[in-house]
Amino acid sequence: MRYEDFHRRSIEDPEAFWAEQAQAIHWHKTPDKILEYDNPPFRRWFAGGETNLCYNAVDRHLPARGDQLALVAISTETGLTREITYHQLHREVNIFAAVLKSLDVGRGDRVVIYMPNIAEAVFAMLACARIGAVHSVVFGGFAAHNLALRIDDAEPKLLIAADAGSRGGKVIPYKPLVDAACAEASFPPPRVLMVDRGLDPDYAKVEGRDVDYATLRERHADAQVDVTWLESNEPSYLLYTSGTTGKPKGVQRDVGGYAVALALSMWSIYDVRAGQVMFSTSDVGWAVGHSYNVYGPLIAGATSILYEGLPTAPDPGIWWSICERYVVRTMFSSPTGIRVLKKQDASWLKKHDLSSLQYLFLAGEPLDEPTAHWITDGIGKTIIDNYWQTETGWPVLALMPGLELKPVKFGSPGLPTPGYNLRVIDEVSGEEVAPNQKGVLVIEPPLPPGCMTTVWRDDARFVRSYFSHFKQLVYSSLDWAIRDEDGYTFILGRTDDVINVAGHRLGTREIEESVSSHPNVAEAAVIGVRDELKGQVPVVFATLKQAGIAATAAEEMRDCVSRQLGALARPARVYVVAALPKTRSGKLLRRSLQALAEQRDPGDLSTLDDPNALEEVKQALARGADAGG
Ligand code: AMP
Repeated sequence: MRYEDFHRRSIEDPEAFWAEQAQAIHWHKTPDKILEYDNPPFRRWFAGGETNLCYNAVDRHLPARGDQLALVAISTETGLTREITYHQLHREVNIFAAVLKSLDVGRGDRVVIYMPNIAEAVFAMLACARIGAVHSVVFGGFAAHNLALRIDDAEPKLLIAADAGSRGGKVIPYKPLVDAACAEASFPPPRVLMVDRGLDPDYAKVEGRDVDYATLRERHADAQVDVTWLESNEPSYLLYTSGTTGKPKGVQRDVGGYAVALALSMWSIYDVRAGQVMFSTSDVGWAVGHSYNVYGPLIAGATSILYEGLPTAPDPGIWWSICERYVVRTMFSSPTGIRVLKKQDASWLKKHDLSSLQYLFLAGEPLDEPTAHWITDGIGKTIIDNYWQTETGWPVLALMPGLELKPVKFGSPGLPTPGYNLRVIDEVSGEEVAPNQKGVLVIEPPLPPGCMTTVWRDDARFVRSYFSHFKQLVYSSLDWAIRDEDGYTFILGRTDDVINVAGHRLGTREIEESVSSHPNVAEAAVIGVRDELKGQVPVVFATLKQAGIAATAAEEMRDCVSRQLGALARPARVYVVAALPKTRSGKLLRRSLQALAEQRDPGDLSTLDDPNALEEVKQALARGADAGG
């Protein structure tokens, strides 16, 4: 079928379109109504239908493909590879679900999962889905403060953690972070379930709270746990993401709409069907990990490859050797991942038989053209840039080779995927802009299935954050974009104070709060500055309460951020200045700061309150980071 017809039908006749797509999954009870939209912008897909993500991802495949690999969890950190069939996955998930039930976790209860990219994280997620518990996976690279914020918002009945992660051969103990987060949180979980990998043999146990997974696993080795059928719009999981305030938003996903959207995306976008193999290099802690390491491939009856380790160890050919060994059809990674490989000898791209590999999808941040060309030439495969957000749960813009492969245009993530009625509108007037003009990318509601249903326990914040930017009710992506005359969209960066570091989204406010917790910091501004490897890196401009110890203060500020938010947020550079550039109304001129730091024109400065502040910034940049004023 032609892409245009498929997309047009999804917009013009959404109910008929999605009713057809809904047949790809198992319904315990068929929906009463395909779309309920009587309270915009809230919408209910497949209202009244009952289904279960775990059943669709696991049980449903047992008769036809029980002995097929469901999950291959490879760790080049521990040297372990686990090949898990659908039958074995079913067993593990039943055991895990029984363990959860024994800890009094039931339908609607939240479970925070703080684990590295290992098979048990997948078992835990599916076990929650099986019994109707709402999981919230927190990326293992996040530090204690981040974890505490998420705990307090989700109020989990249980936290599941591993003893440690490992990166580049270095063991990263998780338990001290869990304990610190529980100490900081106002609503710490009553129970912590520890999956002991044996990486941190001496981790401290909290009597009466901590329980050991291996012990309980043995006790429930033969358990069978019935699937809990959920109404299509009940929450399946929460995934926190950074916004413009210091408080992360709990993106809430439903059950039926998510399953249907993923099923559609697997064949039409990623071109992966039952029995085929998908390898996503993401971590289960991110949106890509949820959708394309866990639920998407499993709902499709495919094999999913999970990878813990660096892209360069034991050698820079590791990803391609995995593709060869497991006959990977579609691979999914990030531009940063490819830029890491680009620093290595290009001959690593040629050492393995990649005949099974059809596509490499890249997402999470802008794909720069030199990187796109380098990898296209290097592996000789179709490289597909796709654009989406944690909020959407699956691509908004992509090419759809499973349907009809349109030509790749370098620099663009392509065309709208089904159900996305996209416009590029003027920031002020809200009118649609002409082709090749810059505007804000918006989605006409109702949002398609799979997208977030609300912000956890905060409907008002959902409306305020996404639907209140224009006079008409539209979902703002908060990204600048340009659409060319062929309908290809180009993403030009965020309209808000969110930055993108190595494909991961960070709120500058969160980092500012962390920097400001240093006792000698009077005020701090954090911006994202262009970086060749990571896309952007956080850079701090700070004023001190007491001058004279700038270099020490700078290092301490960095440590503060690493400790509270994790290594990803660690500022690349800290500039100590006497004053920060602000408007007369006291608003920080972040964009001017960013322009100066990237050696660009700082733009219109007519609203600047104190011209000296800008001079200060220029001098600080000339002096170099970490130097005092
Ligand atoms: P996250 O929710 O962490 O996935 O971040 C979503 C944001 O990442 C988007 O709003 C964009 O700013 C950026 N992003 C994601 N994918 C792309 C892409 N293919 N091209 C450009 N920017 C992207």
